[in-house]
Amino acid sequence: MRNKYDVLIIGGGVFGAAIFYYLSKNTSLTVCLLEQKKFCSGATRHSGGFIRMLHPSKKLSELAARSFKEYVNFKQNIGTSCGFVETGFTTLMKKSDFTLIKDNIKILRNLNIKIEIFDTASVVFNGTHFYIADDEVLLYEPNSGYADPFKVTMAYIEKGIELGGIAIEHHRVKNLIIDGDKVVGVQTDNKLFEYIQSNCVVVSAGVNTDKILSKNNIKKSNTSSNFFLRKQICLNIYSYPDKHTILPTFMDKVSGLYARNCGNGRCILGLTENLSLVEFQYKLYNIAKHVIPDFHKYTLYKTANTFESYTNDNLGISEFSDQIQGVFICSGWSGCGFKIAPECGKQAAAKISNFFNI
Ligand SMILES: Cc1cc2nc3c(=O)[nH]c(=O)nc-3n(C[C@H](O)[C@H](O)[C@H](O)COP(=O)(O)OP(=O)(O)OC[C@H]3O[C@@H](n4cnc5c(N)ncnc54)[C@H](O)[C@@H]3O)c2cc1C
Repeated sequence: MRNKYDVLIIGGGVFGAAIFYYLSKNTSLTVCLLEQKKFCSGATRHSGGFIRMLHPSKKLSELAARSFKEYVNFKQNIGTSCGFVETGFTTLMKKSDFTLIKDNIKILRNLNIKIEIFDTASVVFNGTHFYIADDEVLLYEPNSGYADPFKVTMAYIEKGIELGGIAIEHHRVKNLIIDGDKVVGVQTDNKLFEYIQSNCVVVSAGVNTDKILSKNNIKKSNTSSNFFLRKQICLNIYSYPDKHTILPTFMDKVSGLYARNCGNGRCILGLTENLSLVEFQYKLYNIAKHVIPDFHKYTLYKTANTFESYTNDNLGISEFSDQIQGVFICSGWSGCGFKIAPECGKQAAAKISNFFNI
């Protein structure tokens, strides 16, 4: 541990970890990652880990497709498994919404991502019938699936350390230190290393990102009509009696329900809605019982109730601040950040290299 680094990263979630890894791998900059608790203790810890490609936004679809290739080659590149399981991914949506994302399908196909489109009355995946109404369409990504967010984050951090980076747990950043219009370091709650100097500070602190920025009146980046808000997201894991049942991985955009198996006779079930926990459980049960055969036999095993940061355009931010030189902001992809983190980390590292003219 030193008192000065080229780059300081605040936050050991999947984004901070990916940036840490790519900076350590692709540059000779000295890099230090500071995590206030244990690594991976924010939103990443509770993530469902879904990896799917098609999104309403072109930018997110492209980031997801490029990241997918990183996940598939993860073991080869990083040396550790990311726990990727190919399950295939179905998305049911209204035809009116489908017309809005048709161009994104072309973009993905150009990146060699397979997507099949069904508008027949019903289709069967893994023994489960999906019924498609006249005004609906079902999209199938045969190569999508899920990976393990904890494994991915830890693998990036461990590999970054192996490549010469420093990563420290239980080291909370209290403040950015600004001189004029430039960042010059951070103040931490660690008595031995209370002040650490750096002319480049990456803020990847999840829901705390806005708090850290607003202490220094940093509100906007130059790319996004952003605004950091907080959202509560619940992750529900259910146990079911027949361990051999394989629930297909799906997202039903009409009802909001999404699901995937997680092994050991358990599955993740969620809703894409921001409700109180009680309303959430009630609504989830009422939707799932119509969609999943024998749902009355399932029991709730665990609920994770957490917060995530997002921007009001849902596109997230991965840019230098246009207010304070040297502050790089990376946060805000509500509910979809894990699947795009590898490519975001790579692109962020490239932008930071440019900042240093290397
Ligand atoms: C329930 C749930 C399900 C999800 N499911 C999916 C999914 O299926 N697929 C998908 O792609 N995405 C999913 N997401 C979204 C995805 O997990 C997140 O977008 C992503 O993990 C965010 O990563 P992050 O690194 O930005 O934030 P975080 O993981 O929150 O990491 C931020 C880190 O910063 C640390 N920190 C905060 N303040 C400070 C400070 N002052 N000093 C030092 N450290 C600090 C925190 O302790 C934390 O470890 C889900 C999210 C949730 C909550």
